[in-house]
Amino acid sequence: FDRELTLIRYPAQHQHKSLQAWDSADELLIEQVITELSDLPSDHQRWLIFNDDFGTLGCMFADRQPLWISDSKIAWLSFAENLAANALPDVAMQDCLAPLPPSPALVLIKIPRTLALLESQLLALRKVVSPDTVIVAGAKVKTVTRSVLAMFERLIGPTRTSLARKKSRLIFCQPDQQTLNSQVKDPFPTTWPCHLPNGHTVKVANHANVFSRQSLDIGARFLLEHMQVSDHDNLVDLGCGNGVLGLNALNLAPSCKVTFVDESYMAIASARQNVADNFPGQLEQCQFVASNCLESLLCQPARPVFTKVFCNPPFHQQNTITDHIAWQMFHDAFELLGKGGHLIVVANRHLDYYHTLKRLFGGVTTLASQNKFVIFSAAKR
Ligand code: SAM
Repeated sequence: FDRELTLIRYPAQHQHKSLQAWDSADELLIEQVITELSDLPSDHQRWLIFNDDFGTLGCMFADRQPLWISDSKIAWLSFAENLAANALPDVAMQDCLAPLPPSPALVLIKIPRTLALLESQLLALRKVVSPDTVIVAGAKVKTVTRSVLAMFERLIGPTRTSLARKKSRLIFCQPDQQTLNSQVKDPFPTTWPCHLPNGHTVKVANHANVFSRQSLDIGARFLLEHMQVSDHDNLVDLGCGNGVLGLNALNLAPSCKVTFVDESYMAIASARQNVADNFPGQLEQCQFVASNCLESLLCQPARPVFTKVFCNPPFHQQNTITDHIAWQMFHDAFELLGKGGHLIVVANRHLDYYHTLKRLFGGVTTLASQNKFVIFSAAKR
C-alpha cells in the first residue's frame, strides 16, 4: 500500500485551490486498513467502499478489486479521473440502488451528509454481511452523532468508536446474527402527495438521498406557482431531485418534452419512477440523465436544443458551500438553449444570482418575488 497519489476534486478547473480531494477521515480509514486489515481476503469485490467523495479510498485500494458504491455522478467522475491520472487498474463502480454482492470481507463507509442514505446503505448491507464481515466507517467528529451510532447498532450490531484524531474518528461495527435476523422496516422510497398549483395531485416517490425527501421544498413550491409551459416546449428540469418541476410541466402541457438532469442517481431513479407512476403515457417524451450540470448533454455528438431550463440550484457540493455549481449550471444552460430560450431560476433572495445571470445572458427579468425567494428569467438573445 505504499503509494503516493495525485488526486483532484472533479471538476478540477472550478475548485478552489485550497480544497483537497481527501480528508482526515480518509486518512484514518487508510491507516486502519494498512495496519490492521490488509490480510482480509480481497478477491473479486470482497471489499466494498461506500460514499468515497472523490475516489481517494478507491484509488488507494484499487488493486484489491473492490466494489466502489456511490450515489454521486461527480464522485464517479472524480474517481475515474483519479484512477486514470495515477495509472491504476479499473475498479467496478455501482450506484446505491443496485444489489450488493454476497459475503463481503471488508466494508469501508464514509458517513454521508444525508443520514437517510446511510440508513438505506445499512439496510442493503444487512442482506449480505455476516458476523465475519469487518465494517469500519469514518467521519468528522461532529458527524459521528448518537443517532448515527444507534443506527449501526439497530441495523447491524454492536458498535464502538475510536478516539478522535485530526477532528475525525472511526466507527467499528460488528455484525451480529441476532440483529441481522431482527425485523426492521425499510422506509424507502418515501412517498407523499404533492398538490400542483392547478389542482392536480401527483404521488411523489423519493429515494433515500433525494433533496427535500420528506416534503416539497419551499423554493420549489414558489417556482411551481409561476411556471409557464407550452406543448411546444423542449425543456430541462435541471437539478431535478424527485422531478417535481418536470412533473408540473407535464401536467401543464401534456405534449412538452422534458429532460430530467441530476448528479444523484437516486434523484434520477425517483424522477423516472414519478413520471412512470403519474404520467405513464408521457414517459416516452422524457429523458433521464445523470450528469454534472449539463455536461453529459453538451458532449453529445448531436447537441439537443432546449426552449426552457427550470432550475432550483444547489449551493453545496458534499460538505462544502459553493456557488460554482450554480454558475456552471447557468453557463451550461446558456450553451444548450436555442435563440429566444429561457433559463428560469428560483433562488434565495440573499444570493446574488441576478448579476451572474445578467453577465451571462444580458437580459434578465424578475418573474416573481416574495420575502424569501425570487424567480429570475434570463433570455438567450
Ligand atoms: N428540483 C428539485 C426541487 O426543486 O425540489 C431539487 C432542487 S435541489 C435545491 C438541487 C438539486 O441539484 C439536487 O437534487 C442535487 O442533487 C442537484 N445537484 C447538485 N449538484 C449538481 C450538479 N453538479 N449537477 C447536477 N445536479 C446537481
